[in-house]
Amino acid sequence: MKILVVNAGSSSLKYQLIDMETEKVLAKGGCERIGINGSLLKAKGNGKEKVFTKDMPNHKVAIQLVLHALLDEQIGVIKSMEEIDAVGHRVVASGEYFKKATLVTPEVLQTLEEKTFELAPLHNPAAATGLRACMEVMPETPMVLVFDTSFHATMPEKAYLYGIAYEDYKNFGVRKYGAHGTSHKFVAGEAAKFLGKAPEELKIVTCHLGNGSSITAVDGGKCIDTSMGFTPLAGVLMGTRSGDIDASAVEFLARKKGMSHSETVTYLNKNCGVSGISGVSSDFRDLISGAKKGNKRCDLALEMFAYQTKKFVGAYAAAMGGLDCIVFTAGIGENTAPVREKVCEGLEFLGVKFNQRANAGKNDGSIREISKKNSKVKILIIPTNEELVIARETAELL
Ligand code: AMP
Repeated sequence: MKILVVNAGSSSLKYQLIDMETEKVLAKGGCERIGINGSLLKAKGNGKEKVFTKDMPNHKVAIQLVLHALLDEQIGVIKSMEEIDAVGHRVVASGEYFKKATLVTPEVLQTLEEKTFELAPLHNPAAATGLRACMEVMPETPMVLVFDTSFHATMPEKAYLYGIAYEDYKNFGVRKYGAHGTSHKFVAGEAAKFLGKAPEELKIVTCHLGNGSSITAVDGGKCIDTSMGFTPLAGVLMGTRSGDIDASAVEFLARKKGMSHSETVTYLNKNCGVSGISGVSSDFRDLISGAKKGNKRCDLALEMFAYQTKKFVGAYAAAMGGLDCIVFTAGIGENTAPVREKVCEGLEFLGVKFNQRANAGKNDGSIREISKKNSKVKILIIPTNEELVIARETAELL
C-alpha cells in the first residue's frame, strides 16, 4: 500500500509518498510560492533531486505537478496514479468535531470548512484548499484527514478546561486543544519500543521543542495534559510566540501600545518569545552563539526557555504521579545540547541522572539515550516523524 501524505500551507504544499509495507519514503518534496511569482517544486525520488519551475497559480496546479514528479522518467517512483491508495492530509485543528483520523465525505468537508476554520485561521483553510485540489485531481482516491489535535483528545475535562464560565466552553468551544499531537504520539510510541516496554507501563513527558514548542504528559500511552492551549500561542515561550501570559497584561499592553485585539494577538505570535527577549533572533543557533559571545539577553532567552520547559516536566511528573522517561524531539530538542542540559539540570530529585557526554554526541538521526545507565528516569532524543504517523493513521483507516 502506498500513501501520499500532503501538508498544505497557504502558499506551499509539502508531500511524501510512503510505502506502508516497509514504511520507507519513496519520494518527497515541496511546492513553494503557490499563487506567487516564481513558484517551483523541489522533488526527490530514486535517490535524485529535480527542480520543476512552473507557474502554480493555485493548489490544483501544484498537486498536478506533484503527480507529474511522482511519474517522472528520472525521479518518478510510480507508473500510474492508481498506485496511490490514499492521501493523508495534515490538519492543524479539529476542535471537538473530530476526535481521530477521518475519511473525507461531503459532510466531513462541510464540517471542516464551516466549523474549524476559526480555530486555526492560518492553517485549516490552507489544508482544505489542498484537500479540494487533491479531490479534483484524484477523484477516485480516498482522502483522509489526520489532525494535530487528535492525540490530545484523551485529556480529561479537568486538564483541558479553562477557569471560565462552563457555558462559555459549551457555547463557544473555548478550551485547551493542544498541538503537535502526531509528533508527541510518534515519539512516545518510539520511546516505549526503545525501552522494550508496553506504552501502558510508562509515564513519559514528551518535549517537542522547535520553532513552536509543546510539552505533553503521556500516561500509559495516552495524553493526559499538554502545554499548548486553545491555540498554539500557549505554553512555553517560543521562537516568536510569547507562550503563557496573564490576560490582564495583554489588555494593558494593547492599551499602552495602541493596538487592536487582533494586532495584539499578532504581536504576541510574531514579535515575542525568545526573539523578543533576545532582540537578536528566533533561531536557537543564533541565541547560543550570541550567548557564547557574552550577549546577556541571548543567555536570558535560553535560560527562560529551559526554565519554563523544566517546570512543565515537573508539573507533568506530578500530574502523572511519577516519571519513567523524558523525550526530546524537533529542531531544538534534537539538535540543541545546551537546552537539553539546562532542562534536565536540577531534576535529580525525580530520579534523573543526566549523561553529559552522551548529550554532547553527534546527532546521527537515530534514537539516542542521554541518561546514565543507572538513571531511574530515561532521557531520550527521538527524531520526530509526523508524516509517518499521518500515513499510518490513513492506512489504518482504510
Ligand atoms: P523546527 O520548528 O522543529 O524545525 O525547529 C526549528 C528550530 O530548531 C530553529 O529555529 C532552530 O532554533 C533549531 N534548530 C534546528 N536545527 C538546529 C541545529 N542543527 N542546531 C541548533 N538548533 C537547531
